[in-house]
Amino acid sequence: MKTNDELFKHVISHAKEYGFVFPSSEIYDGLSAVYDYGQLGAELKNNIKTYWWKAMVQLNENIVGIDSAIFMHPKIWKASGHVDGFNDPMIDNKDSKKRYRADQLIEDKIARYEKDGKTDKAAKLQSDLDAALNEDDLGRLKSIIEEHEIACPISGTKNWTEVRQFNLMFSTQMGAMADGSEEVYLRPETAQGIFVNFLNVQKTGRMKIPFGIAQIGKAFRNEVIARQFIMRMREFEQMEMQFFVRPGTELEWYQKWKETRLKWHLALKPNAAKYRYHDHVKLAHYANAAVDIEYDFPFGFKEVEGIHSRTDFDLSQHQQFSGKKMQYFDPEINQNYIPYVIETSIGLDRMFLTTLCNAYEEEDLSTAEKQDSRSVLHLHPALAPIKAAVFPLTKKDGLPEKARQVMDLLKIDYNIIYEEKDAIGKRYRRQDAIGTPICITVDHQSLTDDTVTIRHRDSMEQERVAITDLERILENIVGWKPLLQSLL
Ligand code: ATP
Repeated sequence: MKTNDELFKHVISHAKEYGFVFPSSEIYDGLSAVYDYGQLGAELKNNIKTYWWKAMVQLNENIVGIDSAIFMHPKIWKASGHVDGFNDPMIDNKDSKKRYRADQLIEDKIARYEKDGKTDKAAKLQSDLDAALNEDDLGRLKSIIEEHEIACPISGTKNWTEVRQFNLMFSTQMGAMADGSEEVYLRPETAQGIFVNFLNVQKTGRMKIPFGIAQIGKAFRNEVIARQFIMRMREFEQMEMQFFVRPGTELEWYQKWKETRLKWHLALKPNAAKYRYHDHVKLAHYANAAVDIEYDFPFGFKEVEGIHSRTDFDLSQHQQFSGKKMQYFDPEINQNYIPYVIETSIGLDRMFLTTLCNAYEEEDLSTAEKQDSRSVLHLHPALAPIKAAVFPLTKKDGLPEKARQVMDLLKIDYNIIYEEKDAIGKRYRRQDAIGTPICITVDHQSLTDDTVTIRHRDSMEQERVAITDLERILENIVGWKPLLQSLL
């Protein structure tokens, strides 16, 4: 039996070995908390994006999608509160010279208390931490670290600096001249690009409240400490949707989006027991409800997605800072108002990691006669990077040519791979490892009766089917339709 630590290491090495995720700049020894997606990772990531986009924009008549720029006017980040408030409390260990997030050091201690059955101590520490964070009391954070004798995991010493605030936004200069240029930020979230385009979209799209604006795009955060592979990165992607509603109706919509978003995750048929809601007890000053959808990663339950009822905070702030009215005229009640907002915000990379952790299995196939096993990714077929692999049984007798004809039939609609090297069993195993739902084998019989063998990834069962039926079979198994229908 593998420990969770070992399992997670296997997931990471599997992701690298098969071309899903590589450390960035690897030949230069990598760049901390930055990753590249390889040939299969890019496909899987695109499929997750497509699933989200279709579920949001295609299935909802009142949601439209945009693509705003990463650079935005610097005042936006003043208005949103990021310049003054988007901070993490950091602390350095003077011996190891390692930097930590003070709150995370304390959270790790809480987890250790819980593991040791010291639940009272854990609860007390949690409430002390919450109070210190709520009051931005950095001195209190330092004393908690001292009182609970928290040591640096590297040096093992308690020789700490003071706790300081660290702003997570990356900045750069816009314009060619060093002195005349303006400091701009790499956006730390995509949401503000939606808020500042609220009027543009509402007017040009003739949108009526309630309506939503969705966006997928890069975000950047100079995380104090980045860890757990693609869980916490400095450059990542978000899929966010802001849903604008009439004030007073926001909690109904919040409830609806909370349910809708969990349904989206569960439609992929993961192990449902690994998902849970985590209601925020302490709310940000502008929010009147907030929940995380958490997934039970090998390192414990962590946030994958947040659903927040953000009141009219963002639009009001932009109205104040820009001097432009951010109001909507509601013809049903004959009133102008600043809409309230429900936000759904999911990290694409975290969703990718959730998908990999869910899918990865080292399956024992041993029988009384022989030991056997396989690594398999039980990806939902609609998300699989390669939908089907086509194999000629041998490299001669016209089988490759026939297999190519099957490829040509299917490759317009789907990402199909052709493979003729190695024994058929080995070829199956390779496709299992990358999550390909179907393997199609062309043999001598195919030349005479136009049938092929298809082999299913999860059951490993095989069946003989007519080539003319392949398109229909694939549509039923790997197409978007069954998945999207389950969301209706
Ligand atoms: P955390 O508490 O884990 O730092 P957060 O509460 O700051 O996350 P939000 O600001 O709500 O996160 O961002 C929305 C989503 O963006 C998160 O649910 C997560 O999936 C993703 N996300 C946030 N920060 C990162 C990061 N550094 N790397 C990858 N994904 C991230």
